[in-house]
Amino acid sequence: FFIALEGGDGAGKSTQVEALADWIRGKGHEVVVTREPGATPVGKRLRSILLDVSSAGLSNRAEALLYAADRAEHVDTVVRPALERGAVVISDRYIDSSVAYQGAGRDLSPTEIARISRWATDGLVPNLTVLLDVSPETARERFTEAPDRLESEPTEFHQRVRAGFLTLAAADPGRYLVVDAGQDPGSVTTVVRHRLDRMLPL
Ligand code: C5P
Repeated sequence: FFIALEGGDGAGKSTQVEALADWIRGKGHEVVVTREPGATPVGKRLRSILLDVSSAGLSNRAEALLYAADRAEHVDTVVRPALERGAVVISDRYIDSSVAYQGAGRDLSPTEIARISRWATDGLVPNLTVLLDVSPETARERFTEAPDRLESEPTEFHQRVRAGFLTLAAADPGRYLVVDAGQDPGSVTTVVRHRLDRMLPL
């Protein structure tokens, strides 16, 4: 069973990933918690290229392909093997992040970005994608460390990203759960657990 958590920077994804992993483990399942970009040795190197402020001039298409390369390696060496042995995989970001950031955020075609990701993952789609939706203004208040290259983008960029995520979710309500991530973290976890209770053979 494959769960992806998506949302803008500062939506609280990592907190929710941990809370859900604890809860599912408590039910006796093996849970693999993973993330994009940077879950594999090659991915870590790609992540540092992608997020370093010195990559400011990186071209949009090159950026999209580096994210796709990170994802291909991630799916091949981490996600698929875990799913094949029956583990529940929770990924902090997946394809939708590329469609929202590189597609809607930058000026690339979301359809083409989705196509590249489909090829990179050989068509692996999550059973459930949780979108933690929060306004860029609320999210920004949550940054505790110096913002990375993407977090430093203007608010309009993050608004396009947010709209990109919401468009994806609206197109496929069966696979998405959109949660208001402006509420307290405990309430967010409860909403997600409620949906998973109906889906997971726990
Ligand atoms: O979620 P995390 O903080 O690990 O993501 C690292 C950065 O990469 C974030 O600032 C996010 O905006 C950016 N990102 C991106 N495109 C993706 C995935 C992440 O721009 N496909």
